[in-house]
Amino acid sequence: MLKFPPLVRSRMVDVCIDEQRFRRRFDEFSEIGATENGGVNRPSLSDENKMARNTIVDWFREAGLTVRIDEMGNIFGRRSGAEQDADPVMFGSHIDSQYNGGRYDGVIGVLGGLEIVEALNDADEATTRPLEVVAWSNEEGVRFQPDMLGSGVFCNIFDLDYAYEREDKDGKTFGEELERIGYKGDEPCEPRDIHCYFEMHVEQGPFLEQEDLPVAVVEGVFGFSWMNVTFEGQANHAGPTPMDMRHDAFVATADVTDSVRRLTATEGTDLVGTVGSVDVWPNAINVIPEKVEFTIDFRSYDDEAVDAAVEQIQREIAHAAEREGLEYEFEEIMRVDADPFDQSCIDTVVDAAETVGCDYTRLVSGAGHDANYLNKITPTSMIFVPSVDGISHRENEYTEWDDIVTGAEVLLEAVRSKASA
Ligand SMILES: [Zn+2]
Repeated sequence: MLKFPPLVRSRMVDVCIDEQRFRRRFDEFSEIGATENGGVNRPSLSDENKMARNTIVDWFREAGLTVRIDEMGNIFGRRSGAEQDADPVMFGSHIDSQYNGGRYDGVIGVLGGLEIVEALNDADEATTRPLEVVAWSNEEGVRFQPDMLGSGVFCNIFDLDYAYEREDKDGKTFGEELERIGYKGDEPCEPRDIHCYFEMHVEQGPFLEQEDLPVAVVEGVFGFSWMNVTFEGQANHAGPTPMDMRHDAFVATADVTDSVRRLTATEGTDLVGTVGSVDVWPNAINVIPEKVEFTIDFRSYDDEAVDAAVEQIQREIAHAAEREGLEYEFEEIMRVDADPFDQSCIDTVVDAAETVGCDYTRLVSGAGHDANYLNKITPTSMIFVPSVDGISHRENEYTEWDDIVTGAEVLLEAVRSKASA
């Protein structure tokens, strides 16, 4: 159920989030690209994404922010500090969505960032350092892969040309589409001096709701391994071929999938594993599968746990191939180590939660965020608010408004603290 608490909550601090203004903006923003089932459809560089960008730029300007757009279409809104040349405190997230995605993912981090600027304006409070609210381009990676492309170029993970050449399924490039919607800015998209970065985001998992807590201080992000596996056997007729004469590539795939589940469903480990993509040849009801290509994704905050799982699954793949009399290929196509956030930024968010007086816990994120890349160029941490039923990337993604306001209050205190240091 939606809750509408009083306009100003009693707090231990003197700068206040205006819940109703924040809510009004969120509701208005949710109408851009709204879907029938309560979600939004604003994939990167679509017309709806352009409308969302226009709205953000208008609202940034109305809040007195100086707006700059960089070559990747990342949108920055800057509020001056008493020390004009000091490195800014940056915070924000993204406003592109999945196809038929949820209203909260990314958006609350950008609108929450705008709201804390408004709260500081209301209180007539100047910060020592300048503040910058940011909306990163192409976080979701559904229309143009890879994901986190805008922050990735900003943090020098990808070249600008590489980003511009990314194609959607219709062959349109990121560069062309960015130009078409009028968001190819002049400002160079490259690392610059930033004092620190904070991002508020929905958890996209079930823990906060299970623990009935409004916020989590995010200490880092899982590492992961992505693997491609191919089994090759022999196609044959599903009727006359006796069971002991079969070389069935799918039976081995099912065995490995079962091994992934057994390796990960153990007490006391955060290791998760998924077989997410499976292609079967010839994929016919009356033919024994000759060839299967599939993927495995292992994640954990413990890099050694991922190492061990990758080693073990290779043994399981070899055994499954041997049992079924198959050829196989195994390739680890991507490996990323766990990414701990900056301790001082984590401590700042903990102190902010204490100042706000809310319950909180510490979490590690299973999903990647723009904050991962920012963490490579500046001290970074994140704030999570609950995802009801752990659902995200779907139209029925939902977070209680009260929890979003609490998250914004924590973000506000973290920013105030770092911006006066
Ligand atoms: Zn997101």
